[in-house]
Amino acid sequence: MTRILHRSIGPELPRAVSGQGVYITDAQGRRYIDGSGGAAVTSIGHGDAEVLDAMRRQMDAIAYAHTSFFTTEAAESLADRLVDLAPQGLDHVYLVSGGSEAVEAALKMARQYFVEIGQPQRRHIIARRQSYHGNTIGALATGGNAWRRAQFQPILPQTHHVSPCYAWRDQRPDETAQDYAARLAQELEDKIVELGSDQVIAFVAEPVVGATLGAVPAVADYFERIRAVCDRYGVLLILDEVMCGMGRTGTIFAHEQDGIVADIVTVAKGLGGGYQPIGAVLLSGRIYEAFRDGSGLFQHGHTYIGHPVAAAAADKVVEIMARPGLMENVRAMGQRLRDGLADELGRHPNVGDIRGRGLFCGIELVADRDSKEPLDPALRTHARIKREAMARGLISYPMGGTIDGVRGDHILLAPPYIIQPDEIDLIVQRISDAI
Ligand code: PMP
Repeated sequence: MTRILHRSIGPELPRAVSGQGVYITDAQGRRYIDGSGGAAVTSIGHGDAEVLDAMRRQMDAIAYAHTSFFTTEAAESLADRLVDLAPQGLDHVYLVSGGSEAVEAALKMARQYFVEIGQPQRRHIIARRQSYHGNTIGALATGGNAWRRAQFQPILPQTHHVSPCYAWRDQRPDETAQDYAARLAQELEDKIVELGSDQVIAFVAEPVVGATLGAVPAVADYFERIRAVCDRYGVLLILDEVMCGMGRTGTIFAHEQDGIVADIVTVAKGLGGGYQPIGAVLLSGRIYEAFRDGSGLFQHGHTYIGHPVAAAAADKVVEIMARPGLMENVRAMGQRLRDGLADELGRHPNVGDIRGRGLFCGIELVADRDSKEPLDPALRTHARIKREAMARGLISYPMGGTIDGVRGDHILLAPPYIIQPDEIDLIVQRISDAI
């Protein structure tokens, strides 16, 4: 019997013993194709010799140096690389150890920014319903997933939520995409005004919604309009790219495809590619300068921020993902995945939608295709599909449960960026069989 408290206390899990490229092998010698990169983590693939070598060299040199005393070449190089690749304006980096930590740091950075510039009255965070931003107290409060929050509600700080951009369900039949985007931007503006036009710190959103909705990009115009509303009221725009960022959607930063500039961006998962636990917060010069010219201190920190081995691993992962050809592969293989799924599952009575960007692909399951009525959550269809897929040698990422009143079952596919056409076809075949 295991002595580990796993997330779900249930049947024993197979023991993973090795990973190479897009495959994981368990102790029984069974080989699984990593169709979800764990939870959209494995970006450049398992067992990359260059990353292992970079980590080894860093461990040989120095494995740990506290950031109160030292900086390291690995951390400096990673920060430079991220800034070089980021949309203009995001020119400083705060390194953390994962996604929730990145979101926590982003929230505190945003709040402290307003203290530094003499607007301490700003105290509200607005995010979106049916969202996930992490499991620590602040990140959980930011997320709009009522089911996840329910039992912790009494100890969560107050946050506010508006509608997500979820055209497949929420765009009205008589509404253009532009009208839908305008309606959502108006909803945000109304919420800001309701809370007080100079009282709001930040609006938090994922450019492509991952863990709650299953790879849902915003409609064209949405983020431009949201940006304009934020600017009108001096509200910071925080984009959470923990899941959709670092190449997952076919560009290094997902919001490059939305043509906007953010004030703060969080990244994690694909950044370390699974080699090390690491996350980062990118911030605009304006925020950095407020700290520098103000108290000179970001009043936050964790023991392992800027960890040299994690930074060395991520620096190599990002170097690799930015090499010519890899983002093109993400886009081409993503298209092949969606086309293959549409061929195999496009007429399945319980497949409502197949969507996504790059190698970030979602399948939404329904009881009825026409009414889009969700499946009965008691059936736990997503969990059954995960098991069926694993039995066929495929790792897929299931999502379900009651999300803020919407009962949803989704399957997320997010394989490593190095995946080849025949492996995409294998994923299509195995997930179709499982469904
Ligand atoms: N933000 C988003 C958008 C995420 O998808 C996740 C993880 N699923 C997190 C934050 C939290 O990241 P972590 O699990 O590394 O704490």
